[in-house]
Amino acid sequence: MSRNTASLSDEQDGLEGRVSRLEKKVYDLQNLIDMGMSLSSNLDFESLVETILYSCIGQMFVEKVSIILQPGIDSHYYTIHMAKGYDREFNAGDVFMTEDSPLMRYLEKNPQPQLCSHLSAVDELSDNIARFHDLDAEILVPMVSKSSINGILVLGAKINGDPFSGDDSDFLFDLAKFAAIAVENSRLYLMAILDRMTRLYIHHYFQERLFEELRRSRRYNSPLALLMADIDHFKIFNDTYGHQQGDLVLKETAQIFRDSIRKIDIPARYGGEEFAVILPETSLESAVAVASRLRKRSERHAFTGQSSPLHVTISIGVAQYNPEREETRESLIGRADRALYRAKQAGRNRVAA
Ligand code: GH3
Ligand code: MG
Ligand code: MG
Repeated sequence: MSRNTASLSDEQDGLEGRVSRLEKKVYDLQNLIDMGMSLSSNLDFESLVETILYSCIGQMFVEKVSIILQPGIDSHYYTIHMAKGYDREFNAGDVFMTEDSPLMRYLEKNPQPQLCSHLSAVDELSDNIARFHDLDAEILVPMVSKSSINGILVLGAKINGDPFSGDDSDFLFDLAKFAAIAVENSRLYLMAILDRMTRLYIHHYFQERLFEELRRSRRYNSPLALLMADIDHFKIFNDTYGHQQGDLVLKETAQIFRDSIRKIDIPARYGGEEFAVILPETSLESAVAVASRLRKRSERHAFTGQSSPLHVTISIGVAQYNPEREETRESLIGRADRALYRAKQAGRNRVAA
């Protein structure tokens, strides 16, 4: 399973075989270039990972493929992130592997695609390889970026039962290199646009997305709404329970926001304890319903406290964009902000539109 195996079988194949192998090689390289370009232009993490898996399925004619990744850029372990072609679900904790496990150390020294049958014959690896049993793994392909492994592609058997060839191994090796770099870039991009504490989008990204979404709304004449939320009496909360406790509240409030909106909505940390949510394709009435849900869930939530659960409330202002009036971003934010001010004036823990 190395690049040298190619020349050996060339001699045995004769001229016709060599030409057909070269044609296949050109075809594979063309595919690889296309995949590399498509991977490097995709910064959306989940769709990137999905593209990588489907590339393996399409190129290698396998049914089952999965990917083992580090959950975050600073995690020191790997778990299964996505799997395709299996008739069961896998959880994030499945196939848990630490950075210094024997298998990871082995793959760092041998960063080529490795057949599982070969790996399980290595004494110190057999325990680690057993974890890949449920994935019906035939071959493991380490994803190497900047000389460290940031993931493993796990492929099941080929649909036609053929073994993986030297050419397959070469192809997977190159694909995994592209995949590793693309995964790393996408991770770095996420780090740049997400607020470290709340994992919501940062202010700058929010402004850019609002600009884009307003343009889309004008072009397709589709409704769009904006929420501005602010935690009530948060200064008193901090003074009473301390800033660290306040930070916990911010994190959990952000989680309530993430859990309460759709995938296409864009939640951001607008400022210290202020949140904004862009709601594309949303009428004022629906936006008020979303805001009310956020308000109620925050009010009911028992925030983790040092001794006992704590409670906070939030106020929310809602504004609807009118595409026909060609309103600016600033003016829409201003209207949502004024609605928020009215919610505060009316007694807090409420929604105003
Ligand atoms: P109101 O109901 O009028 O919003 O009252 P408030 O006390 O919440 O007033 P305001 O929104 O002006 O206060 C913001 C407070 O939020 C003050 C500041 O200490 C706190 N805050 C801002 N950012 C953070 C943060 O990152 N962590 C913590 N713990 N507190 C923060
Ligand atoms: Mg505030
Ligand atoms: Mg406040």
